[in-house]
Amino acid sequence: MISVEDALERILNTVHVLEPETRPILSALGQVLAEDVVAGIDIPPHDNSAMDGFAVLASDTYGASQQSPVYIDVIGEAAAGYTSSIKVTGGTAVRIMTGAPLPEGADAVVQFEKTDETVRKKGGQPLDTIGILEPATPGLNVRLKGEDIRAGQVVLKKGTLLRPAGIGILASLGNAGAAVIRRPIVSVLSTGDELCPAGKPLEPGQIYDSNTYTIAANIASCGGTAKIIGIGRDSLASLREKIAEGLGGDMLITSGGVSMGDYDVVKDVLARMGTVSFWTVRMKPGKPIAFGTLKASDGREVPHLGLPGNPVSSMITFEQFARPAIFKMRGVGNHTRPVVSAAIDQDIANDDGRRIFVRVHVSKTGDGWTASVTGPQGSGILTSMSAANGLAIVPEDCPLARAGDKLKVQLLDSTEELL
Ligand code: AMP
Ligand code: MG
Repeated sequence: MISVEDALERILNTVHVLEPETRPILSALGQVLAEDVVAGIDIPPHDNSAMDGFAVLASDTYGASQQSPVYIDVIGEAAAGYTSSIKVTGGTAVRIMTGAPLPEGADAVVQFEKTDETVRKKGGQPLDTIGILEPATPGLNVRLKGEDIRAGQVVLKKGTLLRPAGIGILASLGNAGAAVIRRPIVSVLSTGDELCPAGKPLEPGQIYDSNTYTIAANIASCGGTAKIIGIGRDSLASLREKIAEGLGGDMLITSGGVSMGDYDVVKDVLARMGTVSFWTVRMKPGKPIAFGTLKASDGREVPHLGLPGNPVSSMITFEQFARPAIFKMRGVGNHTRPVVSAAIDQDIANDDGRRIFVRVHVSKTGDGWTASVTGPQGSGILTSMSAANGLAIVPEDCPLARAGDKLKVQLLDSTEELL
């Protein structure tokens, strides 16, 4: 048996970051920049007002107060989106709106609230003069050209995951597209003679195929694109054909057929079609796993992850191995789930020295976390997986975790989905 870490290391050594593509910026949300983004312009591109008010020379306003306002001539207006040739000189001001370019000569903006404009309007007084009620310092309410971004500056580094703010930066620089690592296409193949696709009537002895859907949904939630191959029968011919179809993607994930049963033919087919290792990983659920590469018809070596068939085993092995592999292909790097330390609410025995992933619901209690086991832990019990928001880890060398003991819990519903 190999450890979870060993298995993960071997998988991550085989999968590679995919190649870049150019995408419209909005479609690149959640993708990773394939190159540095260098600013082509200053942001802001011109000095401008941060407030609605009056552009003035700060030195004109010294000594201004409610009791003795400084009166200044208003010589024009400046609105956002327009330039003007009006110059502010001593004793003059321009009425200015937020975002409007600062008129030449002005070095500060006094906001409306710090003037007598409202009083003047109410009293029907002319607005060609304005009373300043507070002194301004040079630079007050002025956003300077280039204060956020300078032309030539690397503003977003290669490897950055594009989130809404990053997309905003690209847009503010006028970039309509971005070079990003493309999303992996991951083929999903379920195997087993007993499987019936959803939407069809169930024949005696059959069960509905759920792994296709949990795995495809997990791929999507890791930011990959699932390519559903469907159901492969437990026969060499069927599996060969379906696996060949699955090799059109960047990675193939199969479920079922990798344990010790008579009809576990995935093992045989894989052994013939590529370099595949069968591992028993020191974990529970999810002991049997296959991993290797298969040669596609176009010569590419496609990584293959053969997950166990039991619905929860396939989900938990996906979580530990497929998720990091997909993130690596996306260029996201080794992103791990947040882990908290939580007090478990019941005893959990560990009989055979494996790492147990216990389905739990974690909640914050006082200044700590509590992990409540969500129900029976059989590897086919999907309802206890569905009720879980975390996986509590009982270490290999811990024969018994007692109620109240603190265990590390991987949080499955992290707010940061990194799609
Ligand atoms: P296997 O790994 O093929 O021996 O399958 C282990 C168990 O998982 C069996 O009870 C299968 O019926 C079940 N199983 C395998 N594949 C699926 C699937 N796609 N959906 C639901 N259950 C499955
Ligand atoms: Mg099977």
